[in-house]
Amino acid sequence: MRRYLVAGNWKMNTTSASGTQLAEQLAAQTIEAGKAVDILVCPPDPYLIPVSQSLEGSGIKLGAQNAYFEDPGAFTGETANEMLLDVGCTHVILGHSERRHVMGETDSLIGSKVQSALSKGLQVILCVGELLEEREAGQTESVLDRQMQGGLAGVNAASTHNLIIAYEPVWAIGTGKTASPEQAELAHVHLRKWLTDHYNSDVGDSVRVLYGGSVKPDNASELLGQPNVDGALVGGASLKAELFVPIIEAAVRLAQG
Ligand code: PGA
Repeated sequence: MRRYLVAGNWKMNTTSASGTQLAEQLAAQTIEAGKAVDILVCPPDPYLIPVSQSLEGSGIKLGAQNAYFEDPGAFTGETANEMLLDVGCTHVILGHSERRHVMGETDSLIGSKVQSALSKGLQVILCVGELLEEREAGQTESVLDRQMQGGLAGVNAASTHNLIIAYEPVWAIGTGKTASPEQAELAHVHLRKWLTDHYNSDVGDSVRVLYGGSVKPDNASELLGQPNVDGALVGGASLKAELFVPIIEAAVRLAQG
């Protein structure tokens, strides 16, 4: 039985004050929910420490939005996995579409990052997803296959127990357009099949596949209610407790059947 994970990707938002306030609100408002589902927040790196202090004792997990694959050393401007672990992160998002399409990250760079983060003991949320023109050209599955192949090139079956996949169609991120529940389910089934074919059916059955892209309180239940959708990676709506908590509660209701 896969446990729901509801993750907030704060992107390059919040201040120290607003981030800690949001974390305190979430900690106070999810005491019961945290028993039924996993909850994660991924603030900007400078706020990881104050946010972790605000989350202390809440059970809400802390993650980063990116990391470099090298061990600590002369890599100006980068953050090592060891540093994330040192400040209390359990998770890291890798291969987010903004890193792919704004920063130009390649599948091969993302693959190095995934392998390194997993080897250091972080749980990795590997994001995959097609552009609108790729969907319209009927290339969704081949794009997902390429991103899975590149992102997981160095990852063996044993390491996948710390792996989470997020299907995030790029055309649905921050646009207010969501994939329909059917579109999400089809993509998730495809990703699960990829995991089964490349590893084995245990991996295919156990790795959680989150949906991301304009998840909001009013569409969360329908998306998370799909059999192969195991949670959500939430951007905009994770920045306000009054939007993020109802998404978490939708997952709780589904978890409790
Ligand atoms: P969104 O972002 O919820 O604002 O669409 C999702 C994401 O980029 O992870």
